[in-house]
Order: sequence, then structure tokens, then C-alpha cells
Amino acid sequence: MKRTMAHCTECDAEVTVPDDPLVGEIVDCTVCGTELETVEVSPPVLQRAPELAEDWGE
Ligand SMILES: [Zn+2]
Repeated sequence: MKRTMAHCTECDAEVTVPDDPLVGEIVDCTVCGTELETVEVSPPVLQRAPELAEDWGE
């Protein structure tokens, strides 16, 4: 099983993203704990996830 790596925007650590990531998928940086949102999938690019607001998303 291959692993896809992307970089945390906060601490630049390598973060493993799911093998078949989806845009909008949230992964946690294991180093700094920041929630990162997948904004591109090929190659995967992460950005800091927005703070969850009420009724965000749906
Ligand atoms: Zn980090």
C-alpha cells in the first residue's frame, strides 16, 4: 500500500494523507496537531482547516 505524503502548513512536517484522498478531507498533523484540509489531490496539498463554525458545511 503506497503512502501519500504532504506537508503541514504550520510546522512543515510530513503528514500521511489517505491513499485516495478527497478534496475537503481533514487530516491531523501528528506533530503539531493542526487540522489540515486537503485542497488538492494530485499531488496532495494541505492547508490549515478553517475553524469550525456553526452549520459549517451542511
Ligand atoms: Zn504540523
